[in-house]
Amino acid sequence: MAGVAWHYVLKFIITGDSAVGKSSLLVRLTDQRFLANPDPTLGVEFGSKLITIPEENKVVKLQCWDTAGTESFRSITRSYYRGAAGCLLVYDVTSRQSFVNARSWLADVREHADPHLTCILVGNKIDLCTDDAGPGRRTREVPSEEAEQWAQEEGLLFVEASARSGENVEAAFERATRDILDKIRRGV
Ligand code: GDP
Repeated sequence: MAGVAWHYVLKFIITGDSAVGKSSLLVRLTDQRFLANPDPTLGVEFGSKLITIPEENKVVKLQCWDTAGTESFRSITRSYYRGAAGCLLVYDVTSRQSFVNARSWLADVREHADPHLTCILVGNKIDLCTDDAGPGRRTREVPSEEAEQWAQEEGLLFVEASARSGENVEAAFERATRDILDKIRRGV
């Protein structure tokens, strides 16, 4: 791979309800940090990250777009979806409503994005449901099995993650990227 900056550039979009942790996942991916109190008016819009898929011997540049607060106005435009190869559809495992609403976000993606887009369902904030979560501990409202089953029915990849601890954040992007490279190889 000497001399190669990257083999592919892939556009990713991050969608889901407000406050599920979309900006936090992006900041975790690109900056390896977590902001406990991010300014909601300053949503992170864009982040880029190089990832290596060793078994493919490929370096991929991910260009990730976050809705940056516009999700509450439902004003996401077609241009946001245009050219996207991957999508993180995010909900909060401690919010049943955010999981219910993921259906309408998926409908939005299906309406506007490329039909071959790879979508990974991400149940975020799993750190809040562990025994060592401390006083901030919250009840899990979405069982993993239920989310996994829905993901399967819809043809989505699925992972649970935490932007706070970093667990599975890079892995979520990597899994989606592997799936996209697989589609490219198969000419889909
Ligand atoms: P967005 O509106 O979907 O972009 O959500 P934000 O990234 O702004 O996050 C909303 C709130 O949830 C913020 O207070 C974050 O600090 C918090 N948050 C985001 N991800 C996590 C996580 O994985 N664990 C915990 N405990 N809090 C999180």
